[in-house]
Amino acid sequence: MLEGIIAFVLGTAIGSFCNAVIYRLHVGDSPWRGRSYCPHCKHPLAIVDLVPLLSFLVLHGRCRYCQQPIAGQYFWVELAMGLLALGMVWRFGISLEAVVGIVMSAFLLVIFVYDLRHQLILDRVSLPAMVVALVGSLVIGREPLSLLVGAIVGAGLFFLQFALSKGRWIGGGDIRLGAALGLMLGWPLVGVSLVLAYFSGAIVALGMILTKRKSWTSAVPFGTFLSAGGVATFLWGNDILQWYLAGGFFDWVVQTFLRFYNPTI
Ligand SMILES: [Zn+2]
Repeated sequence: MLEGIIAFVLGTAIGSFCNAVIYRLHVGDSPWRGRSYCPHCKHPLAIVDLVPLLSFLVLHGRCRYCQQPIAGQYFWVELAMGLLALGMVWRFGISLEAVVGIVMSAFLLVIFVYDLRHQLILDRVSLPAMVVALVGSLVIGREPLSLLVGAIVGAGLFFLQFALSKGRWIGGGDIRLGAALGLMLGWPLVGVSLVLAYFSGAIVALGMILTKRKSWTSAVPFGTFLSAGGVATFLWGNDILQWYLAGGFFDWVVQTFLRFYNPTI
């Protein structure tokens, strides 16, 4: 219980840093130098303006100095990172695995938001993510061969699409993110993350087309779905894989089919 609360609070602070990284990468500032400031009036922020979640709520989502609204992203990223850190500790206990999971979640959360907002996966995020994923995986004892195969599969799948479409379907950033996921999860778990990303991406894209919010031709920010799939797989990949191999997925498809075509069952 106590470790869960500590993990959540620590996670929201990491989320606050993620927000600063997302903003500063976009405007071209160094994430490491200088104090945080309001994007509107550039007023430096005091400690009371930087308390994760609470500052946003107390100030009703507005800057204390210029009263301009602060993007809801600042609140949601802090909350998401808090929940991810809580999830990692809940799943793995206080362990190296949880630490690696939290650090990788922070990288993937930045990629998730950045690709969603700007349709771009920056090398300045994906390349360090590859290095951290490799080191973290070796620290928690994943097999080097599994990591190598994972990276080749993750990067190779996107390289193939990149080459076939001459860069029209996906960008080079997806290739590097695929490699990072392979190094983070290894084979066969990277396969689970790719399937989750394609499934969730297809469902969301279909929903947007049906509600006419997007057309067939508009691009889906695939890095967003890959990041989400990667984190979900880090947490539950083995369970999903076991469930799939035990035939759970096929049972589910058959049951769903029967429910629609024979309601008496
Ligand atoms: Zn301001």
